[in-house]
Amino acid sequence: MAESPLLDIQDLNVVYKQSGKKPFHALKGVSLHVNAGETVGLVGESGSGKTTIGKAVLGQVPVESGTILFDGQDISHASHKVRRDLGQELQVVYQDPYSSLNPARSIGQTLMEPLLREDGITRTEMKRRVKEVLEQVGMPTDTAERYPGQFSGGQRQRIAIARAVINRPKFIVCDEPVSALDLSIQAQVLNLLNDIQQEMNLAMLFISHDLTVVRHVSDRTVVLYHGEIVEQGDAGQINENPQHPYTKSLIDAAPLPDPEAQRKKREARRKARAAANAAA
Ligand code: ADP
Ligand code: MG
Repeated sequence: MAESPLLDIQDLNVVYKQSGKKPFHALKGVSLHVNAGETVGLVGESGSGKTTIGKAVLGQVPVESGTILFDGQDISHASHKVRRDLGQELQVVYQDPYSSLNPARSIGQTLMEPLLREDGITRTEMKRRVKEVLEQVGMPTDTAERYPGQFSGGQRQRIAIARAVINRPKFIVCDEPVSALDLSIQAQVLNLLNDIQQEMNLAMLFISHDLTVVRHVSDRTVVLYHGEIVEQGDAGQINENPQHPYTKSLIDAAPLPDPEAQRKKREARRKARAAANAAA
């Protein structure tokens, strides 16, 4: 039986209205979905509307028309209260690890914040969860007593990932999560996201302008161009046999870090997940 997607975006239109300027039609009839436990890579050049899609999912831009179903519920015009409750299940990791963590709060305080919403959770349990999530993202446990300023960009991004997953969401939006990091660190953070995604059976909308990066993590790839989806499908197929000229140009621009190995890895993950879902 085919399960319904966790996130299902249908015919989404977003129009930015600025006073004194012509309205800007940023998303034109975008439809895409993400199944539970699946990573969908959203790729396109700067200005194509990727962040706008993420923001629409997170309720940060007004939706002109269309629907955004999350777990079957239309959240395209969700109230603040509904959004607050959704915060347990829908999280985000941003590009810039320097501005996304409050410099005045210890890492422990930052990580505990999402837990305060969990009814009846004790302080001991919160501390245990902080320790657990820090281990999960490969950070030493004394990280909790420290402050963002004491960490590198890659370490901060690990901490931002910890904050996003500490309350065990079903879904995370990652908007260019490695684009601000040194190339040598990018692969480590991508591997971490892959591991966490698998361990937690997380669904992920993974946004990047860089197809090499998207290829590293996604099961399916969606290609956005000037606010419209020009192609979407199995990540391996899109890499090996792109149909749209724009996708071809993106692939020509991106170096190939052993795509065959990546494809095999993804295939193995997909099979393992399908088996797990069938058993559940
Ligand atoms: P991407 O993340 O792919 O680089 P964005 O979603 O940030 O693209 O932006 C898509 C388009 O919408 C761009 O042309 C951008 O200039 C425009 N845009 C983004 N935010 C606003 C805004 N608040 N007001 C007006 N135009 C905007
Ligand atoms: Mg963007």
